[in-house]
Amino acid sequence: MALAEAAILENTLGLPCHAERFIAATTHDEVRTALAMAARDTSPLHIVGGASNLILAPRLSGVTLQVACDDWWWEESDEQTIRVYAQAGLPWHDLVTACVERGWWGIENLALIPGHVGAAPIQNIGAYGVELADVLEAVHVIHCDDGRDAVFSRDDCEFAYRDSIFKRDLAGRVVVTQVVLRLSRHPSPRLGYGDLAKRVSVHPEVQEIFDAVCAVRREKLPDPAVLGNAGSFFTNPVIEATQAERLLREYPAMPHFPQPDGSVKLAAGWLIEHCGFKGARFGAFGVHERQALVLVHFGGGDRQELLALAEHIRDTVQQAFGVMLEREPRLMG
Ligand SMILES: Cc1cc2nc3c(=O)[nH]c(=O)nc-3n(C[C@H](O)[C@H](O)[C@H](O)COP(=O)(O)OP(=O)(O)OC[C@H]3O[C@@H](n4cnc5c(N)ncnc54)[C@H](O)[C@@H]3O)c2cc1C
Repeated sequence: MALAEAAILENTLGLPCHAERFIAATTHDEVRTALAMAARDTSPLHIVGGASNLILAPRLSGVTLQVACDDWWWEESDEQTIRVYAQAGLPWHDLVTACVERGWWGIENLALIPGHVGAAPIQNIGAYGVELADVLEAVHVIHCDDGRDAVFSRDDCEFAYRDSIFKRDLAGRVVVTQVVLRLSRHPSPRLGYGDLAKRVSVHPEVQEIFDAVCAVRREKLPDPAVLGNAGSFFTNPVIEATQAERLLREYPAMPHFPQPDGSVKLAAGWLIEHCGFKGARFGAFGVHERQALVLVHFGGGDRQELLALAEHIRDTVQQAFGVMLEREPRLMG
C-alpha cells in the first residue's frame, strides 16, 4: 500500500507547497485505496500529475493523489495503424519520444509538453496545430465516489480547445489511469503552424518534425527547471467576428485565426505584448522576455503575488482591446 506522507509538492512554477498526505499510487488498487481514504475522512482530494499546469496553495489539506503507474505498450491494428496504451503516470514527453523513435506519426508536434500522460486529456493538450483529440481513442478512469472503472470514447470526452468534460463536469470526480492513442506509420506531417515548415525538409521524417518542435520550444519557452513557469498563463481568446473586424481595422497586423463556427481566435501573447508587458518584471514574477504569454517566477514569490500580476495583465488587456483573457493553469487548494 502506498504511504500517505507529508511531502513538499514539486511544481513547475516553483511555488512552495506542502501536501499534508501525499500518495503516489503505483497500482489501480492503490488508487482505489487512496480514494477510499479521502472519502472515509471526508477530507479534500487533490489529483496531481507533474504539477505543470497548477497554481498551488502553500498547503494542501487532505489527500493529494498522484497516479504513478507508468507503463506503456502497443498493438498493431493493421499494417498502418498502431494502438498505443499508456498509463497515467508516464511523462508525456517520454511517450512522444518512444513513439517517434519507432517512426509512428501523430503526436510528434506535441513533443516537450511537460506533465504526465494522465493530465493530457484534461485540457486536451495542444501545440503546433495538433491536439490530443486528433489521436485519442479512449480514456480509462476510476470514479472517485465509488471506485468504479469506466472507459470514455473520444466523443464522450467532449474535447474542445484546451477543454474537455474532465475539466468541467467531471473535474475532480474521476482519476485518469490510462489513455489509448491511435497512431500511424503513414506519414502525415502537420507543418502549417508557425515556422515549422521552414525548419524541415520537403518530405520530412517524423523524427525531423519532432526535432524541429523541440528546437522551437527550447528557443521560445523558458525551461521550468531554470525559471519557474506554468507554460501559457492565458488561453487564446475566441471572439465574435464583428469584434474581430473592428479590432483589425485598428490593428491590421494583429494575428487572428478564423474558426469553423465564424468566431475568431486571437493570440493572447500578442495582446499582452502590445500592452507593453513583454519582459517586464514585477517583484518575484514577470512576463517572459521571449514569450509574453508565459508568466515567470524568479523565486521567493507566493501565489497571491502571481494572481495579482495576472489580474493586472487581464485588466490592462481588457481596457486596451475589450477582450477578456482567461487563465489556463488551475488553482489547487
Ligand atoms: C514550459 C511549459 C510548456 C507548456 N506547454 C504546453 C503546450 O504547448 N500545450 C499544452 O496544452 N499545455 C502546455 N503546458 C501545460 C501543461 O504541460 C499541460 O497542461 C500538462 O498536460 C499538465 O500535465 P501535468 O501532469 O503536469 O498536470 P497537473 O498540472 O499536475 O494537473 C493539471 C490538471 O489535471 C488534473 N490531473 C492530473 N493528472 C490527473 C489524473 N491522472 N486524473 C485526473 N485528473 C488529473 C489535475 O487535477 C489538474 O486539474 C505547458 C506547461 C509548461 C510548464
